[in-house]
Amino acid sequence: MSDSATATAHKVTLIAGDGVGPEVASATKDILAAAGANIHWDEAVAGKQAFEGGIASGVPQDTIDSIDANRVALKGPLETPVGFGGKSANVTLRKLFEMYGNIRPCKELPNIGGPFAGRGIDLIVVRENVEDVYAGIEHMQSPGVAQCLKLISRKGCEKISRLSFELARSLGRKRVTCATKANIMKKTEGLLKSTFEDVAKEFSEFTSDHIIIDNACHQLVIRPETFDIIVSTNMNGDIVSDLTSGLVGGLGLAPSMNLGDQAVMFEAVHGSAPDIAGQDKVNPTALLLSSVMMLRHFGEFETADKIEHALYVTLEEGKALTGDIARGRPAVGTKRFAEEIIANLGKRSDKLVDRDYTPINMPKVSSDLDFVKVNDRRDVGADVFIESGKMPDEVGKSLEQIVEGSKLKLKMISNRGTQVYPVAAAAFDGVDHHRCRFVMNDKSQAMTEADLLDLLQRVGQSWRWIHVERLPEYNGEPGYTKAQGED
Ligand code: NAD
Repeated sequence: MSDSATATAHKVTLIAGDGVGPEVASATKDILAAAGANIHWDEAVAGKQAFEGGIASGVPQDTIDSIDANRVALKGPLETPVGFGGKSANVTLRKLFEMYGNIRPCKELPNIGGPFAGRGIDLIVVRENVEDVYAGIEHMQSPGVAQCLKLISRKGCEKISRLSFELARSLGRKRVTCATKANIMKKTEGLLKSTFEDVAKEFSEFTSDHIIIDNACHQLVIRPETFDIIVSTNMNGDIVSDLTSGLVGGLGLAPSMNLGDQAVMFEAVHGSAPDIAGQDKVNPTALLLSSVMMLRHFGEFETADKIEHALYVTLEEGKALTGDIARGRPAVGTKRFAEEIIANLGKRSDKLVDRDYTPINMPKVSSDLDFVKVNDRRDVGADVFIESGKMPDEVGKSLEQIVEGSKLKLKMISNRGTQVYPVAAAAFDGVDHHRCRFVMNDKSQAMTEADLLDLLQRVGQSWRWIHVERLPEYNGEPGYTKAQGED
């Protein structure tokens, strides 16, 4: 590369990754170079090599510094070793740089076949990437009962909802669908639904709607071509986007991008595929399409189009395909497939409908920690979770005695969400984990710190409490849900 080309090159941190990572990264680099993409690759390490080197996060400081400086990364798959190392290095990278939006396009490619061929699927899943149960806050609350905290914030919902509409705008899309489980998880999943509906009012040029996530999965199999952009919380988005990649030919073809204000990371959806690693068998299309998204992020639309057309022509010709998409035809290796794409650079496919792309306008939301401010708030009681192998009746009667003469009274006990005291469900096969709801005797009074501490001291003398939640009201609205069967 000449000095002037180096000076104008886009600097990208390249993490080749584990397993098949180096093979897909090498093929992608070769194709981008042949297409004339002006990229300076800053090669960095993460994943297995880092874990083996004793870095518990799987991400060395040099890699963090490189992404920090370049703000753009292209990443191969990272293995999460079983037996050593800690958290997933992938999740660490996304969280370190607050890459809160995971964008997973799912578009039918030519000559791939499968039950959905010819339907014209062209949708994008936008997955919130840093909240939800992926916060990984888990506890064994009793020897036999595990808890995972599902944390969803109004700020996170607003960012991901706005990002979905901004993405729709940048790609000329028409419809944004919010998919949640708000019918069951009214506070957490419900927060995405209500926030999305508020944000949608500012983007009235788009059709916006809501669908329950299980119905979304059903509809995606029945009529996938009707979807445009789907936005959802982290876990639902994770599952739905693997489903959608299956609709169009599998993991070997599915690209993605992780977007945040500080950095953007492009990666294939697939993992390190240890079963085929080092055998020149892996399909590099997923990482190649991720790099095409990266070129568009840089505004290099012509080079991106050139590569996408060459890929389409190669798939249409069908004479040099990797094993996962060869469908009985003689398969070629990763390197040969990449050479074929390079040979087709400059050719155009009439199967590829060119879209208008404009750079995505990253949403601006307040960085305040107390993002939602309320004028009026008070606590009306508390849920105290206790571990006990005793039956609810015994626990309930004891707790009623324990709080006699205090400001609070026992309202009910639930076991895994269903009321079991004072009125029990018809069938009971409970566990040693009781949620005991205490409310103020005098409803007109708010619970004070002293009331709560007195309650815990009283309960703690006879029972092992494991968890406490206040029962807040914000502007008169309850900030908690009722148990099944609670009046
Ligand atoms: P995987 O995606 O690696 O493989 C699943 C199956 O799909 C395998 O049979 C594999 O051969 C095949 N496959 C995947 N990509 C392919 C491609 N491009 N071409 C042809 N065939 C392909 O999933 P896994 O086996 O569950 O995970 C292996 C490792 O990867 C695990 O350590 C996991 O934690 C990690 N992983 C990493 C990421 C990431 O870095 N973003 C994502 C998923 C899994």
